[in-house]
Amino acid sequence: MNLEELNASQREAVEYCAGPSLVIAGAGSGKTRVLTYKIAYLIENGYMPWEILALTFTNKAANEMKQRIGQLVGGDAARYLHMGTFHSVFSRILRAEAGSIGYTSSFTIYDEGDSRSLLNAIVKELGLDEKIYKPATVHSRISMAKNNIELPVDYASNSSHAVRDKESGMPRMPRIYEEYQNRLRQANAMDFDDLLLYTYLLFEKNEAVRAKYADRFRYVLVDEYQDTNAVQQKIVLQIVRDHRQICVVGDDAQSIYGFRGADIDNILDFRQKFGERQDGVADAAGSSSESGARLFKLEQNYRSTQRIVQAANSLIEHNRRQIRKNVYSNNDKGESLQLKYCYSDREEAVIVAKDIRRLMRGEGAHYADFAILYRTNAQSRTFEEQFRKDNIPYRIYGGLSFYQRKEIKDVVAYLRLTVNVHDEEALRRVINYPARGIGKTTIDKVMSLSGELRVAPWEIVKAPVMYNLDVNKGTASKLMAFAELIGGFAEAVAEEDAYSLGKRIVVESGISKDIYSGAEPDDISRQENLQELIDSMREFVDDRREESGEEHVGITEFLQEISLQSDLESDDGENASGDSAMQDDKVTLMTIHSAKGLEFPTVFIVGMEENIFPSAKCTESQRAIEEERRLFYVAITRAEKHCILTSAQNRYRYGKLEFGTPSRFLNEIDSKFVEIHNFQHDGSATPWTSKGRMPWDRQRDASGSDRPEWMTGRRGYQNSRPVASQFKADSKPKAVFGRQKEAPAETFTPEF
Ligand code: ATP
Ligand code: MG
Repeated sequence: MNLEELNASQREAVEYCAGPSLVIAGAGSGKTRVLTYKIAYLIENGYMPWEILALTFTNKAANEMKQRIGQLVGGDAARYLHMGTFHSVFSRILRAEAGSIGYTSSFTIYDEGDSRSLLNAIVKELGLDEKIYKPATVHSRISMAKNNIELPVDYASNSSHAVRDKESGMPRMPRIYEEYQNRLRQANAMDFDDLLLYTYLLFEKNEAVRAKYADRFRYVLVDEYQDTNAVQQKIVLQIVRDHRQICVVGDDAQSIYGFRGADIDNILDFRQKFGERQDGVADAAGSSSESGARLFKLEQNYRSTQRIVQAANSLIEHNRRQIRKNVYSNNDKGESLQLKYCYSDREEAVIVAKDIRRLMRGEGAHYADFAILYRTNAQSRTFEEQFRKDNIPYRIYGGLSFYQRKEIKDVVAYLRLTVNVHDEEALRRVINYPARGIGKTTIDKVMSLSGELRVAPWEIVKAPVMYNLDVNKGTASKLMAFAELIGGFAEAVAEEDAYSLGKRIVVESGISKDIYSGAEPDDISRQENLQELIDSMREFVDDRREESGEEHVGITEFLQEISLQSDLESDDGENASGDSAMQDDKVTLMTIHSAKGLEFPTVFIVGMEENIFPSAKCTESQRAIEEERRLFYVAITRAEKHCILTSAQNRYRYGKLEFGTPSRFLNEIDSKFVEIHNFQHDGSATPWTSKGRMPWDRQRDASGSDRPEWMTGRRGYQNSRPVASQFKADSKPKAVFGRQKEAPAETFTPEF
C-alpha cells in the first residue's frame, strides 16, 4: 500500500492508532478513502482482517470498500474482514446468540410491510380506529422509541410521549407497542429496529457475550457517522469501551436521517463519549486532557470542480446548526451550475434526456456517468418513460423493489413459514393463497383464539379440533392439510438446498399453477418475476458453494441474504430499454437519500420546486428545513463536473396538474455560480404524445413455451439435470444476485 496516495492530513488520520479518532470533513474530501486505507494499514501493521469491524451505510458500499482493500493489500485478506451495515452485521451475531435473548436462530426479519400489517391487526383487535391509529404513524413512533432504547415500559412511563400521543388522539400507543413486541416474539420475528435494540440488550445483559465480541473486534471503523442513531452508537461503545480502538468519519453537513432518529449531536458528542478513558488516565496522544479522542479535519475536496464546491458551500452557509468548514477544491474551475426552468414535468424529462445525449456527443460521456437525483421515488416515472422512448438505458434504485412485488412476497412468505412456522405475517399472507377455501372469518377465529389461549396461531391451525376452534369439519381439515403441506416442506429444510426446495414449494403450494394460468400482460410480468426469483435461488446456491465450500445452502441462508437488502441494493433489475453491449453502462435514477457517499461526473437534480424540495412536510420547522438543505447539499456534492438543476412550472401530482413555484433553495446558492436557462415558453418543446414502452410490452418468449421446465415434472428436481442446464443456458447477468459474484457477502470467522 502506498501512503503517498493520500494528502498529509489524510495520512495522519490513517496512521493514528493510539486511541479513538474522529474525522469530520466536508463532502468529497476523502473520508471514505481514509477508512479504506486505514483498514489496509491496520492489516499491514499486525491486525488480522477478522479483528476489524467496519460499519458502512449500505452493503454495497461495504463490498466496494472490500474490493479496494483487496487491491491495496493483495491476497485474499479482505475477504475475512467484518464489514457491512449495522443491520446485517448484528443480525448475524443475533442469530448466533439467539438463545440468550429467547429467540431461535431461524427467526424471521419482518420488513416494513409486515410490521404495518401486524400493527394494523393489533389496532383492530384492540377495537381502535384505524383512521386515527394509522399503521405508518404508529410504526414510526415505535421505531423512534426503539432507536432511543425505550422498551414498552419505558415508553409507558415517558410523560412527553403521553402528552404527544394524547394530543394526536392516540393514547393507547403504549398498549399497542407492548402487544406488538409480544406478537413479534411469539412469531419468532424481529423488525429492523429490533436487530439493533436486541443487540444492545444482548451485550448489556450478558457481559460474557459482550466481552467476547469486544475481544474479537479489536478495531472498529464507522463511515457516515453523522447518520447513526442512539442505539447504534451505544452498541459501538459497548464494543470499544475497553480497548478504545475506533475511528469514525462523518460530515455534520450531510446528516439527512434525522427523521429516523439520527442526531447530529451524536457526532459532536463523540469526543466526550469515546474519548474518556475508563481508568481516568489522560491519553498521552490526546489533544486535550479531558478527551483522549483525536479530531482530524480534511478540507480539500478531490471530487468536484471549484465552482461546484463553492456553490455547495454558499448553500450550506444558510444553516445555523453546523460546524464551519473551509472546503476547497484545486480541480478545474469548471462550469457554473446549470439551472433549467421547464414548462412541465414532461418537458423536464425531455430536457434531461437531451442533455445526456449532448454530453455524450460533446464529451464522450457514457450512460453510467449520469445520475438523476430526486426527492421522492414517485418522480422517477416521467424519466423512465422518456428514457424508454429515447432508448437510454437506465437503472432505477428504490421504489417498488423486486422483493416488494406481490408474487415475490407470496413465495417468500412460504419460504419464511417453512423455516419458521410461527411467523404470523407469513401465515396470514399465504394460508389462503392460492385459494384453498380458508376464509377470512376462519383466519379471524384462529387469531382471536390464539390471543385468548396465548397459543401460537400455528398450533391451532395444526390441531383445530384439539383447541376447539369454532369451525366446521370441512374447514378444520383444510387447515390441517395446509399445516401438513408446510410441515412437509419444513422437514426438508435441513437436507434440500434453497433452489431445489424453493422450486418444490412454488409448485406444490399451487403458486406456479396460479401464476401461469393467465396470459394477460400483467400475468406475463408476474411469470417473469417468479422465474427471476427461482433463477436467483439457483445462483445464490451456486455462488455460496463456490465461495465458502458450504455443502448445504438452504432456505434459511437465502432468507437472511434477501431480508436486509436496502433500497440502494435492490434495484429493480429491469433493463427496460437500450441494447447496450455493456450491461452496466446505464444512467442511474435514485433518491438523494440513497445517493449518499456516491459520485458521478454529471448529476441532474430534478423537481426543484417548493413542496417537493423542500418537501411539504418539512417547511414548518427550522430544524426540518435545515435537514432539507443538507439534503440539497448532499445532492450537489455528488457531482464531479456538471451539476444541472431543473424546476418545472406544471407538474402532474396525485393525478392532477399542479402549478409549482421554484424551490427557495435555488435563491440561496450564490448567483455567481449559477447559469439560468429558461425553457418555460419554448414553443419548440416536444409535445408528449407517444406512450413509453412498459416493461410488460415485451414480446413473449419466442420459443413459444409458456411454462418453464421445472413446472412440468411432478417434482421439479426429478429431472434436475436438464432443468439445471436450461437455467444455465439462458442465464443473463441478474440484478438480484449478480452482485454477489463481484464481491463475496460477509465472511465471518468459523465461530459464527
Ligand atoms: P462524501 O462526504 O461524499 O462521503 P468522502 O469525504 O467520503 O465524500 P471520498 O469519497 O473518500 O470522499 O473521496 C472523494 C473522491 O476524491 C474519491 O473519488 C476519492 O478517490 C478522491 N480522493 C480523495 N482523496 C484523494 C487524494 N488524496 N488523492 C486523489 N484522489 C483523492
Ligand atoms: Mg464517503
